[in-house]
Amino acid sequence: MPTPESILKSIFGYDTFKPLQREIITNVQARRDTLVVMPTGGGKSLTYQVPALLFDGLTVVVSPLIALMKDQVEQLNALGVPAVFLNSSLSQEEYQANMDSVKSGQSKLLYVAPETLLTPRIYSLLSSLKLDLLAIDEAHCISEWGHDFRPEYRQLVDVRRKFPSAVCMALTATATPRVRADIAASLGFTQSNEFLASFNRDNLFIEVAPKREPIAQTLRFLENFKDQSGIIYCFSRKQVDELAATLARHKYSVRPYHAGLEDSDRRRNQEAFIRDDAQIIVATIAFGMGINKPNVRFVIHFDLPKSIESYYQEIGRAGRDGLPAHCLLLYSYGDASKIRYFIDQKEEPERSASYQHLDAMTRYAEGNICRRKPLLSYFGETFAQENCGTCDNCNSEPADQQDITVAVQKLLSCVKRSGERFGAAHVVDILLGSKNEKIEKYRHHELSTYGIGRN
Ligand code: ADP
Ligand code: ZN
Repeated sequence: MPTPESILKSIFGYDTFKPLQREIITNVQARRDTLVVMPTGGGKSLTYQVPALLFDGLTVVVSPLIALMKDQVEQLNALGVPAVFLNSSLSQEEYQANMDSVKSGQSKLLYVAPETLLTPRIYSLLSSLKLDLLAIDEAHCISEWGHDFRPEYRQLVDVRRKFPSAVCMALTATATPRVRADIAASLGFTQSNEFLASFNRDNLFIEVAPKREPIAQTLRFLENFKDQSGIIYCFSRKQVDELAATLARHKYSVRPYHAGLEDSDRRRNQEAFIRDDAQIIVATIAFGMGINKPNVRFVIHFDLPKSIESYYQEIGRAGRDGLPAHCLLLYSYGDASKIRYFIDQKEEPERSASYQHLDAMTRYAEGNICRRKPLLSYFGETFAQENCGTCDNCNSEPADQQDITVAVQKLLSCVKRSGERFGAAHVVDILLGSKNEKIEKYRHHELSTYGIGRN
């Protein structure tokens, strides 16, 4: 009788399971619905691939990423595991051949896009078979509270109802407690178990710097990363093009990536980056889904990300090989206002959710405690260490801080007394006891706060 250990060794060639993999597999074998939350690179795929090989029937894997599906199936086939995929990228003949291979029971795993799974053609195919396991990858797509909501994911619960004897797994690399609850509820998990792996990535140095002269700051940063691979995220396509051009003028090997480029150019630029033909990719958030490049040494956020989830996912593309990598976020209050302007154009309830995401992001950026604490607590994890040693706040001198309570009291008092309607420059003039015309005009030299800020 094959066991999880024997399959791990004989098929995948590994001696030991990664953290939580064995527990998850045991849970799935016992046919209990299972929610798996593991950071990218944690080894999620194996947790459904091993059970798939232990069950007699078919395992269906739902994945929204066509490129990833193909990679996974090719890898499995190379290991001698019969697996196929069905999605819109296949020709008629290929599609039929893959359908036949599932129908005959030859394939153990079928990868499908959610919209494909919901078609009558696939329903009737599956009805003629024994479906043992339904694994839903990127399961956060089911939740409106996640960063990548996909309406077709909502209908996956119908698939569950049609095949009640199949055990269901939901897997994701990013899920807040709220998104986790949403996933379990949407999929109708009754007796489910959650497995949460740690999200801490201790090889990443995390830094947030005030955005003053972003280009100069970026160039200075890059001085320390000569010939090393990195990603620079920008908010807009225009910003991507401009920054890529600037870096090219400074003789960096750089490519742009955003949704406004021709498909072929985008693909070429991505390939160049992955194969180390280009050192830097300057991109919008369109870049990165499904990218698994091990030697990314830095990620710069040239603009503010719109949520902690996307930020975490984007910095998570650095240091996949476990070696040190540096993540720099350039933060300005103005960027937050810019995003707020875009959020204002949205409809409820998306608007409220977006505001909450942005608020959490700005609180994070402005915070002065260990970066890992708010980051991990966002994912429901407590980072207990006092000093992580690899973030800006844990490495800065506490001497940076001084008590300015009295000065602030004077300032606010002056704002209040002058009627809360003057700008910073005028309030400063009052505090300094200046004698200009505007002060005279409003008789502000008669205020009790006039001149109390001279020291
Ligand atoms: P995820 O889907 O969580 O991002 P993957 O399933 O792609 O992660 O696995 C990440 C890498 O870890 C892959 O290269 C995989 O082969 C490897 N891996 C998975 N499980 C093990 C294991 N038990 N021992 C060693 N390597 C493993
Ligand atoms: Zn820290």
